[in-house]
Amino acid sequence: MTVRTRIAPSPTGDPHVGTAYVALFNLCFARQHGGQFILRIEDTDQARSTDESEQDILKALRWLGLEWDEGPDVGGPHGPYRQSERKHSYRHYALDLVEKGHAFYCFRTPEELDVIREARKEAGLNPGIKGDLELPEADVQRRLAAGEPYVIRMKVPEEGVCRVDDMLRGVIEIDWSQVDCQILLKSDGMPTYHLANVVDDHLMAITHVLRGEEWINSAPKHQLLYEYFGWDMPVLCHLPLLRNPDKSKLSKRKNPTSINFYERMGFMPEAVLNYLGRMGWSMPDEREKFSLAEMVEHFDIQRVSLGGPIFDVEKLRWLNGLWLRENLSDEQFMARLKDWWFRPEALAPLVPHLKGRAEVFSDVAPMAAFMFSGMLGVTAEQFVHNKLDESEIKRVLQFTLWRFEAQRHWSKETLFADVKALSKAMELKMGDFMFPIFVAIAGTPNSWSVMDSMAMLGPDMTRARLRHALEVLGGFSKKETKRVEKEFAAFSSLS
Ligand code: GLU
Repeated sequence: MTVRTRIAPSPTGDPHVGTAYVALFNLCFARQHGGQFILRIEDTDQARSTDESEQDILKALRWLGLEWDEGPDVGGPHGPYRQSERKHSYRHYALDLVEKGHAFYCFRTPEELDVIREARKEAGLNPGIKGDLELPEADVQRRLAAGEPYVIRMKVPEEGVCRVDDMLRGVIEIDWSQVDCQILLKSDGMPTYHLANVVDDHLMAITHVLRGEEWINSAPKHQLLYEYFGWDMPVLCHLPLLRNPDKSKLSKRKNPTSINFYERMGFMPEAVLNYLGRMGWSMPDEREKFSLAEMVEHFDIQRVSLGGPIFDVEKLRWLNGLWLRENLSDEQFMARLKDWWFRPEALAPLVPHLKGRAEVFSDVAPMAAFMFSGMLGVTAEQFVHNKLDESEIKRVLQFTLWRFEAQRHWSKETLFADVKALSKAMELKMGDFMFPIFVAIAGTPNSWSVMDSMAMLGPDMTRARLRHALEVLGGFSKKETKRVEKEFAAFSSLS
């Protein structure tokens, strides 16, 4: 048997370090067994998936040095590797399960489902989506003939315990009563993640599924689907979730999570990959610094420890420093620095601003320094303003940060719309409102359009600087936070 593993990202946002982490472990496992590592794009959620995000994910994984044997860009014998290009193949599998009596047409409206859920709760049952969902066959046929909208759901046992084997965790037990009659085919004819994932893992001959711990609850449904189809199930392995230094689940609200951020900050990809390899895993001799080749050579999945690994940017910086000093000759250092500074995608959009302001090239470095920096050394004094009091300044920063956290399309126009709506809601002049943002982002109010700067710096860096500014200003107390949250909620309903 050839070991085949895969990473199956959904292209719905920035390339996440968690994706790279899971990809790395899948790649090491496959390579170590002389097998193959596949990349599949799971874009069945067409409202949220974008081409741009897919391109970003592929680019970021490549930047890190992760290479796949089959994928949407390199092809392979099991293609297409993008689920949207396979979308017509899934329906047949859902219908097959209906025919075998393992799935059924469901015509329940959301309101009816609420009633069923409530009734289950009152009867002391788990209030999931199951129970009284099926209709008599004649009724089903009549509704189908009338063209009523429906979904196809899988049947799930009402009681008993589901046992799923996990390479790291042994047998995981989950009560069937907690597992919903999962939708397999949506009313628009599209498969859900569960159906498409199982069908594709089977058709792509995946033997081992290494994925994040957040998918454990899906495992019973997947196992049951494999049984229903009569297919061998890949071996499952749920890796521990990455965590913020405060032990909460790694999130962009607390930490930069986009691989783009680490590239823009000038980290070495080798160091980032090395650090991801340290997440829950260690070399047999416990050394901290190792290359991808060394990791593959010594890889042993059983050395993964389940205690939540902490992704700490400060530790990563330290490790990156070792890589810079120990692995780059002076010439290499110079070459890498030059490549980083003169990345056309970073420099080109800056040029019009620089040309508009500089008289000689020596003006450029000080003017552009904030675009090539991490956190700026801003102080509370820099935020003092004659029209805004301290509370307003902090609220401007906090509200902007919250709006930007929810921002799905990062462009000058969308950021501008956010800022405009907020300044209006706070009844502040745009110029006054923008002052603290300028200081937080550029370190000075005298720079070119801060909208351009934020668009170029990207979401993670922009948010990190806004968060940093709030910290410098002392943040909010618990009590203030409550009030500020309320105020923000009121604004959001206005615009
Ligand atoms: N598309 C899923 C994700 O976004 C894949 C989960 C899995 O590996 O099964 O992570």
